[in-house]
Amino acid sequence: MKSATNPILEPMNPSSALVLVVEDEPDIATILENFLKKQGYRTERAADGETALALFRASHPDLVLLDIMLPKKDGIEVLKTIRREKQTPVIMLTARTEEIDKLLGLELGADDYVSKPFRPMEVMARVKAVLRRSYASTPFTELLRLGGIELDTLQTTVRVNGISLELTATEFRLLQHFMMYPGRTFSRADLLEATMPESSALERVIDVHIANLRRKLSELASGEFIQNIRGIGFRLKP
Ligand code: CA
Repeated sequence: MKSATNPILEPMNPSSALVLVVEDEPDIATILENFLKKQGYRTERAADGETALALFRASHPDLVLLDIMLPKKDGIEVLKTIRREKQTPVIMLTARTEEIDKLLGLELGADDYVSKPFRPMEVMARVKAVLRRSYASTPFTELLRLGGIELDTLQTTVRVNGISLELTATEFRLLQHFMMYPGRTFSRADLLEATMPESSALERVIDVHIANLRRKLSELASGEFIQNIRGIGFRLKP
């Protein structure tokens, strides 16, 4: 990713953002970490409130996903302490809906919450939205439109001719990258760097993702969207 020449991409592909996952149930924490990593975030994990605060002070995460019911120090106490020290965005994970007003209000100042049980993609959407808000000073595009394709970078949704399209995270990033530069041809190395910066995948992996993306697009719209430019790479038909 040439982020220096492409500042607009920075908040949409925040691969450098560090998310601290504070959750004492290992299965849930693992699922969250796996999803976050797939989206390109870095993660750290704490299973109790005291470790959470130690990691928070040591690592300066960009966002905290914070469970309420935790050993040693509960999520409310952790949130209070975080708020005394920094304005880092915090998303609470809670099964106790009666706490929500208090959490989000001025009293405690969480940025958002997700009710348990949750779908991991719902959490990912909140993480993205809250990080986006915290990048408020940086310009960004929320909605990209091209030839019947509508891509919402905030909600990470894609609609083709009004019908929603389910994409994997990599397919989404590929399509987003193409849509930001319609008509421009990218090499496989460019696309790999733009969509899987922390992956050691071979360039040919891009062909597989593009084939899948093409197939999904073709189910909802006719015509060739992604063109193969022989010897160079791929482009989105302008
Ligand atoms: Ca818990």
